[in-house]
Amino acid sequence: MSKLKVLVVEDEVAMAESLRTGLTEAGFAVDVAADGEEGLWYAGEVDYDAIVLDLMLPKVNGFVVCRTLREREDWTPILMLTAKDGHLDEAEGLDTGADDYLTKPFHEAELMARLKALLRRRSGQLSQVITLNGVSLDEASQRVCSEESAW
Ligand code: CA
Repeated sequence: MSKLKVLVVEDEVAMAESLRTGLTEAGFAVDVAADGEEGLWYAGEVDYDAIVLDLMLPKVNGFVVCRTLREREDWTPILMLTAKDGHLDEAEGLDTGADDYLTKPFHEAELMARLKALLRRRSGQLSQVITLNGVSLDEASQRVCSEESAW
């Protein structure tokens, strides 16, 4: 049985390494990208089962990474990491196309629970995506991703 593949996009080295260690110990195959540009590159090269995406990233931020993936019709489940410093409100007010959000700081167990929920949702239900006038509705995640909505 092959391992589930998770991409971690996180620029804070200590956080990235602790995620890599925790997810590897939990049995996932883990790749780590240090900025949004690298994250997009990895996501284009490898078919991941889930992406843990930090919001505040160098070069290309998490909003844009998420939107770009959805524009590529890449519906990999995304767990967005946000910091409790005002950006959270922004993230909640905007629909980025992420499937779930987790506010830093968080417990590793919380992250694992959210991630497993996303993976279950993905495996149990094939996502049906309807696109109309540039707005995509993902029936599985009940999220709408619009080209304009991230800004
Ligand atoms: Ca960051």
